[in-house]
Amino acid sequence: MLAYEFHTDSTLRFIEAPDPGPGPGELVVTMASNGICGTDLKIARGEHRFFPPGTSRIPGHEAIGIVTDNRSGDERYAPGTAVALAPNISCNTCRPCRRGFQNLCENYEAFGLTFNGGFAEKILVPASAITNGNLLPIPQGLDLTVAALTEPIAAVLRGLRPLNITSDDTLLICGAGPIGLIALLIANHRGVGKVIVSQTSAPRRELAAKLGADVTLDPRAGDLAEQVLEVTDGAGADATVVATPKGTVFGDAVRASAVGGRINFFAGLPSGGGEIPLDANLIHYRELVVTGSTANNNADCREALDLLASAPGLFSPLITATFPLNKADEAFEAARAGEHLKVVVTDG
Ligand SMILES: [Zn+2]
Ligand SMILES: [Zn+2]
Repeated sequence: MLAYEFHTDSTLRFIEAPDPGPGPGELVVTMASNGICGTDLKIARGEHRFFPPGTSRIPGHEAIGIVTDNRSGDERYAPGTAVALAPNISCNTCRPCRRGFQNLCENYEAFGLTFNGGFAEKILVPASAITNGNLLPIPQGLDLTVAALTEPIAAVLRGLRPLNITSDDTLLICGAGPIGLIALLIANHRGVGKVIVSQTSAPRRELAAKLGADVTLDPRAGDLAEQVLEVTDGAGADATVVATPKGTVFGDAVRASAVGGRINFFAGLPSGGGEIPLDANLIHYRELVVTGSTANNNADCREALDLLASAPGLFSPLITATFPLNKADEAFEAARAGEHLKVVVTDG
């Protein structure tokens, strides 16, 4: 089969790989679509901790496919069944797992990170992923390319959950990349009061406005917190999603918050760059709730699939390019260039 593999010399390249033959308890999914995200670009740069030099593995953790060879004994996955591969396979016995943080499992495994992923014609699904519930049947009628958004939507749903956004709230989104724009679409779908999007690039600000942002701000046009206070009659933001990996924005988000504001630090900062100036007194005096979120678990992915199925047209504008697997190199090039939102590799 054709695969786009991270090779031992730390480059991504096409290889002709043997077809995965499922053993007892396993099954094989034929890839239908797989989105490219920042994690994949990090892998392609040779900077991902799960892909040290010398690694040979196929990335792709946003995979959708059709079951073609089922040796699992689980009849829910008959050949022909369309499934999303929730990427993070948890052990369910470690302390984080037992407390509901399967996404932070101490024995973490994941498609496209520690196992071969979706940039290949076929994907081997190990028994652990099947028993752990990582194979999610796709709701009837949902387009399999749009379904590739399941994983990033799941991550955003997880980040938004502790913010408890209501129709009275003003939501501030810092960063209008795919994550920030998914947050915008979900917030408006749920009926948030007002959404402010902060983004340096003008075309992205225009896009955010087109997708429903009530106000867009350029954080370089002046102090971000002051700009937010100005457009909220001095009140500030009731909820904030920081979806840009820039340290100063985290402090800005705290300063831009209203009394009782909730903040999600969705983005991680480059390693070593996590110590940032932040006025802890504001958290105290305004009773702010500061939260973080990392990746997603199977329940988040199920919720994402349900949301996609209930409103498929809502998210489809985010997919701005698709490339067949045999042009995965061009797909990565397009994703790297930064003009696209979500680039999806398909079965052709
Ligand atoms: Zn991703
Ligand atoms: Zn665990």
